[in-house]
Amino acid sequence: MGNSVLTEHLISSKHSGTREQTAGDTQLKKAFSKFINIITFVDLPIRKKFLLFSFGVLFWFIVMFAISIAANIHVNTKTAKIVNQLVPLDRTTQKITRKLQSLSIDAAEIVNISNLHVLDQKLDISTARIGDIQSFLVSLLAGGQVSDISRDDSRLIESFHVSGAKEMTGAGAFAKELRIMMTHSETILSEITGIKIDLLQNNIHGSSQLASKINEFKALIASSISLSTDFSVRLSKSYRVNSEKIEKATNITFYTFIGVLLLATSLLVIFTISISDSIVIPVKSIIGQIRSLGAGQIDMSKRIVIRSKDEIGLLSNEFNTLTKEIHDIVTFKKVIEEDHTIEDVYARLGKTFMEKCGLNEFTIYEVSGSQNKMRPVYPIILNDRDTTCSEEILSNCELCKVKKTGHTISSFTYNEICKDFKPGLDKLHLCLPMVIGGKTGGVVQFLFDDAESFDSNDKRLFKAEQYIKESLSVIEAKRLTNTLRESALKDPLTGLYNRRFLQEYTETLVAGVLRREKNVGLIMCDLDYFKQVNDTHGHNAGDSVLKETSNMILKCVRSSDLVIRFGGEEFLVLMLDINEGDTIKTAEKIRESFEGAKFKIPDGTIKKTISLGVSEFPHDTESFWQSIKFADVALYKAKDSGRNKAVRFNEEMWAGEEF
Ligand code: GH3
Ligand code: MG
Ligand code: MG
Repeated sequence: MGNSVLTEHLISSKHSGTREQTAGDTQLKKAFSKFINIITFVDLPIRKKFLLFSFGVLFWFIVMFAISIAANIHVNTKTAKIVNQLVPLDRTTQKITRKLQSLSIDAAEIVNISNLHVLDQKLDISTARIGDIQSFLVSLLAGGQVSDISRDDSRLIESFHVSGAKEMTGAGAFAKELRIMMTHSETILSEITGIKIDLLQNNIHGSSQLASKINEFKALIASSISLSTDFSVRLSKSYRVNSEKIEKATNITFYTFIGVLLLATSLLVIFTISISDSIVIPVKSIIGQIRSLGAGQIDMSKRIVIRSKDEIGLLSNEFNTLTKEIHDIVTFKKVIEEDHTIEDVYARLGKTFMEKCGLNEFTIYEVSGSQNKMRPVYPIILNDRDTTCSEEILSNCELCKVKKTGHTISSFTYNEICKDFKPGLDKLHLCLPMVIGGKTGGVVQFLFDDAESFDSNDKRLFKAEQYIKESLSVIEAKRLTNTLRESALKDPLTGLYNRRFLQEYTETLVAGVLRREKNVGLIMCDLDYFKQVNDTHGHNAGDSVLKETSNMILKCVRSSDLVIRFGGEEFLVLMLDINEGDTIKTAEKIRESFEGAKFKIPDGTIKKTISLGVSEFPHDTESFWQSIKFADVALYKAKDSGRNKAVRFNEEMWAGEEF
């Protein structure tokens, strides 16, 4: 997989002209590596791989064993043919030849015999020789024992077995032909015997008839010898043919054996290299990655190349996924640390739930324990009624079970577990606490359509929890910074923004108003004879009047307006996007509300009036700070003209002083 990504990258970086060729090469390489993978079982589970490897080794052993056995049987058959058939046959033939040669000598001797007794003996021997030859030939034809007995001293020379002629091509024909010749020679011999006996009884030395018969006999024996010799030659040929066959078989066996051995060894080498590579290389990479992880470095370029689909391949894949997830989480943390506002952090966390965890329905709530409030911060919900919790929970966060217990609350474990989950919403919910500084500083509520869309081992939720955990410290830091900022910009007594806030935000505020071509109404408020409160009832009573004053002013303006504690008992109201001339109406409203109000102090109640100076920016002046001054000038006029008044600034009040 890793390889193909790399290859794709390489292909894309080449010129289009060479692209096709490269793609072809890659296809070829892919096909080759696929082939190697198949023959080396790389993609099989390790156990199967080694099982097949053992079978493979066994297979080659069997192949080699079979070749040896086949060769052995072949050689043995050929050798047996030589030893059991050709050798006895040859020996028998040689014996026949020898006997025939003796018969030839016998014929020559018979001519010269002059004694009847000697003739008798000679004839007996010759007949016996013919009988021996006949018996050898019978053995040759039918198969059986060949017993060679010396006709001179009746001693058994040797005895051996010879196979039947049926099994021996040529031997049958030879034996049959020779048998006929022997029968014939027997007849001639008996004729010779008759003639010779006649001659000896009549004391005649020789006759042409005897000579002719002897010659006939000799000729017959000579042709028998020639037949026998021919057969011997044929046997020699057969020897040679069989020996050559044995040699050929031995050679073929040797080369086949070497070939099989080479093939088996090559396969073994390829398999071993491929298998060890597919195990050792990823394991080494995993060790390397674990080391870098241990050192706190996550190098995504060092992804483990997946070489197989076996357990090691799965392990590599899982490890790559793990590294990627850790990398994602580390990157996420770095990014949210650099985010400007806490709202950005919440938004990024929410987008991560969707993009990285595949959780699309959720709400992130921010809990403010000190104010007993919680508010949805992502996704932004404009109307409190649209939240998936009851509206009351927003103004009383103690109603939220997660906030109260600090535990995960899930309607999967117990239906209707939270009575403040929006009634009638046909969804299951799982709410996780965001524990910040030992307290529940936030709640993430995940929604699911039904029980099937979620299980307790849900990887998505596990991932979401990791991202939440990583964001907690950042959220805590950002909230702390916000609190510090707030306290620097707010007046601790009244909770209103202070003059510093005004200094910081004037630029943004003015730019917005000018862009929208609207006005800012400015009302500078100052309690009348406030010093007397302090003097008569004490400083605490004065403070309490100031607090009450701030509340009363806030009640008279819209929530989008800004009330700033400008000085000791001076308050500046900034009314954004107001219509020209409307500011004085609000100033009058404030004045009237004071006129009719009573302030509680420890001694009872007192009445207080307020004086107000009004100006409008940019209607009165293009300088915002000058419009504050104008409001102050108008306030002075209000005081000067008897107090308990709201006075609109006009140009005549400005005696040309420069601000
Ligand atoms: P005027 O009608 O002219 O405004 O009279 P005044 O007495 O209200 O005006 P002055 O400016 O003389 O007095 C303001 C007083 O407000 C002086 C100061 O002691 C008091 N003051 C300012 N800040 C605080 C505060 O935070 N708490 C209390 N209790 N008094 C404060
Ligand atoms: Mg005053
Ligand atoms: Mg004053």
